[in-house]
Amino acid sequence: MSWLPLDCHAHTTWSDGQLDLDRALATIGGRGVRPSIADHVSHDVVGGIASLERLDEYLDALSTRDCGRSAEFCWHDPLWRDVPAATQRRFTHTIGSLHAVWLPDGTLQRVFTRVMAAGLTPQAYIDALLVNLARLAREMPVDLVAHPTLLPIPLRTLPPEEVWREEDEERMVQLFAESSLVFEVSSRYRPHERLVRRAVDAGVRLSLGSDGHVTAQLGNIEFSLALTRALGVADDALYDPAVHGRRGI
Ligand SMILES: [Zn+2]
Repeated sequence: MSWLPLDCHAHTTWSDGQLDLDRALATIGGRGVRPSIADHVSHDVVGGIASLERLDEYLDALSTRDCGRSAEFCWHDPLWRDVPAATQRRFTHTIGSLHAVWLPDGTLQRVFTRVMAAGLTPQAYIDALLVNLARLAREMPVDLVAHPTLLPIPLRTLPPEEVWREEDEERMVQLFAESSLVFEVSSRYRPHERLVRRAVDAGVRLSLGSDGHVTAQLGNIEFSLALTRALGVADDALYDPAVHGRRGI
């Protein structure tokens, strides 16, 4: 397989040593995918990088390898607000994600849970997600949003074309278009085609992500690449921070 000019958002869980960085890079490269490492930087992910000191060590390690240097910051966790500008510039690009959204009553609804806040309908969740995404676009100095359609576990079995009204999709892609945020087409947490097509039509830039945490997932972007190609997106139009720049800094 040829070496595709594609960034691939993968996690090494470098911080707790579960997945060796060099083995991860070899696995991703073996799939013909250009690797980009983006470990979780958050107080709210088990095994994540949870201090600025650890973040500097992580960037030191990545800077000696041939790979994209990134991080996935939780929108709802304040750690990203403390990252100094000098540290921001050490990344090739940065990623924000909505692992939880703030509800109108000030509580958090998480996505990696089977528990839904009392009375929270699918539509109310989508509304909250879009309100949070609008704030993320304004406040968070990141270049792309990981798995932007990821929902709490009980909602994932519902048909996405019903959970997402077309006007919700339109609102989401306009937020991406206006803010120049990049939309990740995740092979792990897969967006539905109607929404990705709408993003393409609105001129939103896409990136591919494996969201790999274990060897079998690392660099596996088959679903994402097949979808972007089916929608007519040229491979060289996929997000490459070295070519397309950064919005985050
Ligand atoms: Zn994530």
